[in-house]
Amino acid sequence: MSDCLFCKIVSGEIPSGKVYEDDLCYAFKDIAPQAPTHFLVIPKAHIGSVAEVDGSNSAVVAHIFEVIARVTKELGVGSYRVVSNIGEQAGQSVPHLHFHVLAGRDMTWPPG
Ligand code: AMP
Repeated sequence: MSDCLFCKIVSGEIPSGKVYEDDLCYAFKDIAPQAPTHFLVIPKAHIGSVAEVDGSNSAVVAHIFEVIARVTKELGVGSYRVVSNIGEQAGQSVPHLHFHVLAGRDMTWPPG
């Protein structure tokens, strides 16, 4: 999508701190980290949020979770939280599916 911030990050139009990339997904450091380790993993193809995942695009979500498992191992991160906010009330500010990966500090539950 031409006016999507994360599509512009995928295309390189907006710079980002790359953590990982393959044909299907891109991982980059969050610009406002909420933990010592905080990166986002996104599909390269535009999907608005988890609410738009269906049989036609769910394979990329499974792939993203494989990538999260692999990249966290490579970073030596053994305990972490994966979060995806869906919709305004849940705190989604960028309407392109993304999974936050947070680690490196104690986490509380329930989340705020
Ligand atoms: P959410 O609020 O769950 O939609 O998450 C969006 C995340 O994108 C926030 O944590 C922002 O800090 C992050 N973000 C926004 N713009 C950028 C950017 N240009 N580069 C990296 N992260 C960004």
